[in-house]
Amino acid sequence: MRCPYCGSLATQVKDSRPTEDSAAIRRRRVCPDCGGRFTTFERIQLRELTVLKSAGRREPFDRDKLVRSVQVALRKRPVEPERIERLVSGIVRRLESMGEAEIKSDTIGHLVMEGLRSMDDVAYVRFASVYRNFREAKDFEEFLGALSDNEEDGPGGRIEDDPPA
Ligand SMILES: [Zn+2]
Repeated sequence: MRCPYCGSLATQVKDSRPTEDSAAIRRRRVCPDCGGRFTTFERIQLRELTVLKSAGRREPFDRDKLVRSVQVALRKRPVEPERIERLVSGIVRRLESMGEAEIKSDTIGHLVMEGLRSMDDVAYVRFASVYRNFREAKDFEEFLGALSDNEEDGPGGRIEDDPPA
């Protein structure tokens, strides 16, 4: 698991134990390169969600990625890992309860901002600014990708939406 602080791949598991409700395994991890400590949770995933990006691309929903972006926003803030876990679980349940297999990336971003706003003002401002910058950078990257990258989008190299079911 990549270190959320320095990006090292050499992180080690120090401790594994079930959460109180035994619905997940909590692992404490340490990074030998920067000394950073973080916690991950392993849990059952019942539904496959797909994230619909702004330029029309799709990718499988990745809970760990969501946890990491929340962790980065909350870096060095006095918030327990369990609260981050609850926030993310709440967001995932809300996404699942929407009943759609495809979720717009914007929808996820808004839910995270909503959650952070009530949790920690500093993290909220951090996430909101990074999220907006990231979106612009990503949009640009996807625009360039659409011009030069034919492999992912089929022989025509065009991005096409699926017809409505
Ligand atoms: Zn590190």
